[in-house]
Amino acid sequence: MIRVAVCGAAGRMGRLIVRQLAGQKDMKLVAAIDVPEHPMIGKDAGLIAGVQKLGVNVVESSKLSEVLRKTKPHVLVDFTTAEASVQNVKTAARMGVSVVVGTTGFTEEQRRTLEAAIKRGRIRAVISPNFSVGVNVFFKLAREAAKVLGRDYEPSVVEVHHVYKKDAPSGTALRAAEIVAEEFGIEPEEIKIKSIREGEVVGDHTLAFANSFEVLEITHRAKSREVFAVGTMKAIRYVIKKGKPGIIKDMQDVLGLR
Ligand code: NAD
Repeated sequence: MIRVAVCGAAGRMGRLIVRQLAGQKDMKLVAAIDVPEHPMIGKDAGLIAGVQKLGVNVVESSKLSEVLRKTKPHVLVDFTTAEASVQNVKTAARMGVSVVVGTTGFTEEQRRTLEAAIKRGRIRAVISPNFSVGVNVFFKLAREAAKVLGRDYEPSVVEVHHVYKKDAPSGTALRAAEIVAEEFGIEPEEIKIKSIREGEVVGDHTLAFANSFEVLEITHRAKSREVFAVGTMKAIRYVIKKGKPGIIKDMQDVLGLR
């Protein structure tokens, strides 16, 4: 049985993760964590997620080390904010708990801090800005298209998300730009990304390659946030069965797309 702790358990993604966990035969939610001021602190994580009572109350983040020591999870899943996630991963690394991180918006420095903590703690890790299978195929197609089309074509990305999203551009748009930049031998910043925030849009991404004669567009639309939670379950199994101590893997590894 894989024992799982969830950071950000009362958030939009955290609740969906708890809901998915409740339906897995090989996994068990053992801890749910959120910020001290969250009104759901002390409430049952299952009930908050709209499933049955799971007997795991949401605990405040200031007690993270204590909770991890007591509940002994194999994996900590984190869907919080970039700043919070860095602290949570550092704590998990100190305590030898593997991590699956879905949080986005890391600065380069934060990303380096994450890498150092994971290496030092020799924990297994999956970090991905997008856990949807479709988006990871989109990344693969982006690489193939960039490879064949080459620099005669101008790449650009448009992403649309709900108005509550904190970071812009989205982690997924940045990753798409990074992939094209790797193939083109340019800096990712040279690729134009347009971010639109409107309504309840779960997440749309279009990568376009244009020249004077034609435009190729690759589009992914997420219809429900549940897709990210389903992918997270795959990442949890992967990190336990195939993760490597001190190494960060991503969804391309999880899905065997490399
Ligand atoms: P949200 O604001 O609804 O939820 C975040 C939760 O984290 C909140 O309940 C907040 O109180 C909590 N939190 C903040 N600091 C914390 C800490 N120190 N310890 C524990 N909990 C803490 O946001 P959301 O829509 O659920 O998104 C969360 C993150 O996941 C964002 O970075 C978003 O971009 C990312 N995301 C990733 C994917 C993916 O597939 N990788 C998909 C959707 C969203």
